[in-house]
Amino acid sequence: MATVELTGAEREYLETLFWLYEAGLPMTGANVARAMQLSAPTVHEMIGRLERGELITRGPDKVISFTAEGERQAEEIVGRHRLIERFLTDVLGIPWDEVHEEAERLEHAMSPVLEQRMLAAIGDATTCPHGHPIRVGTRVPGVPLADVGEGAAIRVLRFENEAEDLLHYLKASGLEPGLEGTLAERDEEHVAVKAADGTLLTLTPSVAETVSVIADPSPPPRTALPEQLVLGQRYGR
Ligand SMILES: [Zn+2]
Repeated sequence: MATVELTGAEREYLETLFWLYEAGLPMTGANVARAMQLSAPTVHEMIGRLERGELITRGPDKVISFTAEGERQAEEIVGRHRLIERFLTDVLGIPWDEVHEEAERLEHAMSPVLEQRMLAAIGDATTCPHGHPIRVGTRVPGVPLADVGEGAAIRVLRFENEAEDLLHYLKASGLEPGLEGTLAERDEEHVAVKAADGTLLTLTPSVAETVSVIADPSPPPRTALPEQLVLGQRYGR
């Protein structure tokens, strides 16, 4: 089947829409604008292009849906991106706060043969190094670390925002997907997690908004996109 080659910008929008879709957040132009830190008119124009390309449709309520082809392409792009990230960290040893942009550059140059080789090379890893499922549709639901109460047991699931500056900050904090601990303290300026080995890891509450965890006891799930989702100039998956 012949598929029209998408531009880098189109791919990025599809990725962002797919992230909203996975997270169960409303797929609206406003949420895309917020997630990508772009102005409403810019987003409006690109959404129109995707619609004309029959990758998405827009309902009367302005809510966006994927067409079958749009969903297929978005899944493929997102899955491949996460696979490359995992390959770069696990096989090439690149730190996880440096792979997002690299993967972005590599993802459209990949042949199906190389993709198969990479899949074989990552062994049984099922997520990107930031915790997002490589095989889409297997996302584990979580709650923002910012909502968790003191004393709750937590396990870090994923970093929702992969803007590079934010990943550097998270790396420096010592937090990473899979880490287990307890919510040690929180106030207006800090959220502190005590890791299983006793280390205290501290984040700002706005960064804690972007970290999804499983918590026990758990706060209720969020239904809206947090205002502080994006701190960097650019949103990533
Ligand atoms: Zn990732």
